[in-house]
Amino acid sequence: MTSLTYTDGVPAVDHHSHAGYVRPGQRIAGLDAYERENALGHVEGNVHHDDYQRYMALEESGKDEEAQALAESIGVPALVAASLRFQSTTVHARALRDGARALYGDHPEAELVEMSRQARADDFPGLYDRALHLSGTAGVLTDIPEIDSEAWPHRRYKPIARIDPYLYPFGHPRWQGRGSDTPRFRRIFSHVLDRQLERAGIALPGTLGEYEDFVLSSLRRRRSEGFVGLKIASAYVRPLSFQRVGRAEAEAAWAALAGGPREVPEAAHRVLSDHLVFAILEWATAEGMPVQIHTGFGHAEPGLRVATADPLLLEPLLADPALNRLKVILIHGGFPYSSHLTALAHAYGNVHLDFSWMPYLHHHVVGRVLEEWLEFLPADRVMYGTDTGSPELHVSATERARAALDGVLAEGVGSRLWSTSQACWLAERVLHRNLCDVYEVGL
Ligand SMILES: [Zn+2]
Repeated sequence: MTSLTYTDGVPAVDHHSHAGYVRPGQRIAGLDAYERENALGHVEGNVHHDDYQRYMALEESGKDEEAQALAESIGVPALVAASLRFQSTTVHARALRDGARALYGDHPEAELVEMSRQARADDFPGLYDRALHLSGTAGVLTDIPEIDSEAWPHRRYKPIARIDPYLYPFGHPRWQGRGSDTPRFRRIFSHVLDRQLERAGIALPGTLGEYEDFVLSSLRRRRSEGFVGLKIASAYVRPLSFQRVGRAEAEAAWAALAGGPREVPEAAHRVLSDHLVFAILEWATAEGMPVQIHTGFGHAEPGLRVATADPLLLEPLLADPALNRLKVILIHGGFPYSSHLTALAHAYGNVHLDFSWMPYLHHHVVGRVLEEWLEFLPADRVMYGTDTGSPELHVSATERARAALDGVLAEGVGSRLWSTSQACWLAERVLHRNLCDVYEVGL
């Protein structure tokens, strides 16, 4: 890092990370896995829909030989190779390599891939610690279902619990859309719910009331284990337009899903998840438990509907009088709805914003978004985050976030918007203080 005026030496606390998270069935891989995953969108957009679904089903069930044979026959390797070449000019590719060089030294691509794989296999927590140290990160909030607090000490790695697994106790209507992303989110949600039921030592309760008791006691237990906040990732599986529903309507949806025919209308799933979101968030409000909400675009493969991830769809929830003191953080910069976030945080004093994910996907845009947010909003609203479980991307995202923030602050001082001391103060607010205040945690 060179010539940072306002952010140099200011400790960072990452508001949205996935440090330590391994998806069910995921294998240890090197840093090339990130670009290979991003290549799936290119593959999906160039092979027959049914072939793609069959290929991904084989991949995900671990049937390597069959998956490989099908991949060859439908041309997957050539499509992945083409995608990797086209991705080479993206900020993501640059950030991945910059982070790898910072951690492993200046080596050729193939060696970096192998070194990153080996470093994960040898001591993943140790590698992450090194990434935090290199980037001046004091700690991270990590979105993870469970964490081994021996390997990932709470002082540096504070877990965040998704509430989505609790919202769909009867799964989802059959997936008929493109891609594999939404079905994977659904599978992960139900996997986590099963695990929480198992930890509670019960099967799925028979009534909505009993189920609500289970959900809140499960969240209370996780809180007592060190979870400091909640997250909603449901934009990947449904629209963000959560609506308050009456008790009778929620009971009817539960009954339809619990006892009805196999194909229950999608509306029943929607009503039940609407009801459960409000029940959980009322609890979070009373407990002072902050909630992060995914807004804006999704992964590089079809699934999330960008139009229904518009943060303005959250207005019925944000405007609910019972949730006026809920600590909400709308995450990922909401791209392409960043200005919608600005307007929401302007109107709702309990709403904060983070620009996680942006630093390793965007270059100039990060500065433009920060400029708009910091000029218009009070100093307590904006937080830095990386949105990665990759130590390499953690290092580069944090460096890039510091650089973008520094540029905006320097420009603000240069044009006499802020004094030097205000710029220093903003650097500290964005890099850690706002998070520490909202989550009531120390550095
Ligand atoms: Zn994330």
